[in-house]
Amino acid sequence: MAVSFQGFRSLIENNPDAISLIDRRGEILYGSASSTRMFGYQPEEIVGRNCLDLLHPEDRSHGHVALQEVLASPPGPLQWDARVRHKDGTFCWVESTLSNLLFEPEVKAIVMQQRDINARRVVEAQRQAYAEELTRSNLRLEEFARIAAHDLREPLLTISLYSEMMLKRAQIDATTKQMSQIVVESAKRMAILIDGLLSFASSGEHEALRFVDLRHAVGQAIQNLVTPINTSGATITVGRLPIVRSSELHLISLFQNLLSNAVKYRAERPLEININAERRGPDWVVRIQDNGIGIGAEHQARIFMPFVRLASRTVPGCGLGLAVCKKIVEELGGVIWIESQLGVGSTFCFTLMGKDAGMVPLPTNGELV
Ligand code: ADP
Repeated sequence: MAVSFQGFRSLIENNPDAISLIDRRGEILYGSASSTRMFGYQPEEIVGRNCLDLLHPEDRSHGHVALQEVLASPPGPLQWDARVRHKDGTFCWVESTLSNLLFEPEVKAIVMQQRDINARRVVEAQRQAYAEELTRSNLRLEEFARIAAHDLREPLLTISLYSEMMLKRAQIDATTKQMSQIVVESAKRMAILIDGLLSFASSGEHEALRFVDLRHAVGQAIQNLVTPINTSGATITVGRLPIVRSSELHLISLFQNLLSNAVKYRAERPLEININAERRGPDWVVRIQDNGIGIGAEHQARIFMPFVRLASRTVPGCGLGLAVCKKIVEELGGVIWIESQLGVGSTFCFTLMGKDAGMVPLPTNGELV
C-alpha cells in the first residue's frame, strides 16, 4: 500500500516520540508536534537552534560525540541517553536515536527520534539507591555479627573452663555433675555457633579476584577435611575443572562446606562424591554430587537460609554452612541450588561467572583424587 506524503506527515505528527531533523552541525531544521508536547517549545522556537544547546551541560560532550559518530557511519542508527531542557527549565531524560539520512535525496538531514525515559530513569535510580542501601546495611550487619561473635568468645571460654573444673571436683553430687555437663555441652554448641557466625560474617568480604585453578581449591578443601574424609572411607572423583577468575579463599571455604556436608549426611552405603564442571553459555556450572541421605523436595528451598537444619542435634553443625555457600556464590556473581532425592543422594550446583571473567578450561582430563 502506498502512503501519501500527508499520510507520512500525520504518522510523524501523531507519533508519541519527538522527531526532529538536524543538519551535520546539530542545527534543528524541523521539529514535530510531538517535540512541542515533550519539551514545551513551539517549532519556531527551536528551528535554527543547535540541539546540543538544549542538552544538560554534563551530557553535551556525549551528544557531540554521538553526532560525530553518526556522521561517520551513514545511515546510523545510533542511540544514547541524555537530559534535555524543557521550556519550563526542568530537564527530562530522553533516549535519542540518530539516523544519518544526509545522503537520502528526499530527506538530506539527520533524523533524531527522542523518547521520554524519565519513568525508567526514576525506577533505575530508585533501584540503585535501594541496592546501595542494602549493601551498606549488609556491611553494618556483618560488622555487628563479627563484633558480637568476637566479644562472646571470651566469656564463653571462661564458662567452659570453670564448668569443666567443677566437673573434675570429686565432692560434687550427681545432680550438680549432670547440670555442669549440660553447661559444658551448651558452651560447646555456642562455640560452634560463634564460629559459624564469624564465617558467615566474613563470607561476604570482598577479596581481590585473581585466576584460581578450581582443582587446586578442591584439593585444598579436601586437605583441610582429611580426617573426616578418611574416617568416612569416601571415594572422591574430580572431573575436568576450569581456571576461574575468583577469590581462592572463598572457593576453598565453599568446597569445604559442601564436602563436609556430603561426609556428615552420608547414608549406610559407601560414600561416593563426584565433583565436575561444565560450560553453560558464558558461565561454568560446578556440581558436587553425593550418594548420601538426600533431601526431600519440600525442604530444598529452605536449606540455604541461615540456621535451617534438618539434621538431628547429634550431628555437629549450626545450620550456617549452606548460608555461607550461598553468600559466597552470590558475592562471586553466581547462583546455587540443589538437586536431590530423599534416600538417593544430593547434587549441589553453583554457577561461576564467566562473563568478562577471562575463564579458560584446563587442558587436562578427569583425574582421581
Ligand atoms: P549444618 O550442616 O550445620 O546443619 P548446613 O547449612 O550446612 O548446616 O546444612 C543445612 C541442612 O541441610 C543440614 O542440617 C542438612 O539437614 C541438610 N544438608 C546439607 N547438605 C546435605 C547433604 N549433602 N545431604 C543431605 N542433607 C544435607
